[in-house]
Amino acid sequence: VSAKQVIGVDLGGTKILAGSIDVDGRVLERHEVPTPTSSQEELLEGIVAAIEPLAGTGIGALGLGIPSVLDRSTGRALGSINIPLTDFALNDLLAERFGVPVAVENDANVAALAEWKLGAGRGADNLVLLTLGTGVGGGVVFDGALYRGWAELGHVVVVADGPPCQGTCTGRGHLEAVASGNAADRAAEKLWGEGATAELLVGRAEEGDPTALEALAGIGHLLGAAIGSFINVFSPELTVIGGGFGIAASEFLFPEAHEVAYREALEPARAGIRIVKAELGSDAGLIGAGLLAFEAIAQER
Ligand SMILES: [Zn+2]
Repeated sequence: VSAKQVIGVDLGGTKILAGSIDVDGRVLERHEVPTPTSSQEELLEGIVAAIEPLAGTGIGALGLGIPSVLDRSTGRALGSINIPLTDFALNDLLAERFGVPVAVENDANVAALAEWKLGAGRGADNLVLLTLGTGVGGGVVFDGALYRGWAELGHVVVVADGPPCQGTCTGRGHLEAVASGNAADRAAEKLWGEGATAELLVGRAEEGDPTALEALAGIGHLLGAAIGSFINVFSPELTVIGGGFGIAASEFLFPEAHEVAYREALEPARAGIRIVKAELGSDAGLIGAGLLAFEAIAQER
């Protein structure tokens, strides 16, 4: 088995992005399919369909970043908020289907791995990454290592008894409920009616529309409250913001987020607050999944 190339898969709430990745983390070829969300069976078929065109000869392993809670010892997906994947050993299914080692990790942990090794967090020993996409994912690098455990940073409370969270989450006022791409969709609908989206919100902000700018600053405000709290827990050298919405809206979210985070964080951690955009953009999850696959090959040896 050649270990020059692997396949990384970024399983998102709206699309499944698969790519063949080389040892330097370069994406050589990519294939994308919409995420089937009507049933687990269709979702699994979608994952296989995303991988299949890339699974030729010379692929050494598969790595997946999935928006799910995992059993650390077995890699089994225990449950998911935004996709229909519950109590299922996706790793075993794919290892059997494609005949290569398979590594599965939480999607935001995988994005944190990529940004730390190859992106905005290069050289840092401590960082927090938040992905603002369909949901809000969190990943942490702590004392020079990716934290592989539970880091559901999107489900911290930023508005007590606030708006209900998404999917199967029963919480209220979670960061995900107020700062995800879905939350931005809802903010846009509130302003311009049904069918308005986060894209429209960001587009109008780019044109200087004051209501759009205000709505995004409001989201940035709550994002900053969460970042301030994470600084008080992890004291990161930087906070990296990724995800489709997070990257597209960064210039409108960050100024307010920075101000609030500075107010909430304690000295001396707050002195060096850095909130930066993910450098690998929407490829962070894909590339991180590839890095994970290379780790899986190394472990097999
Ligand atoms: Zn939640």
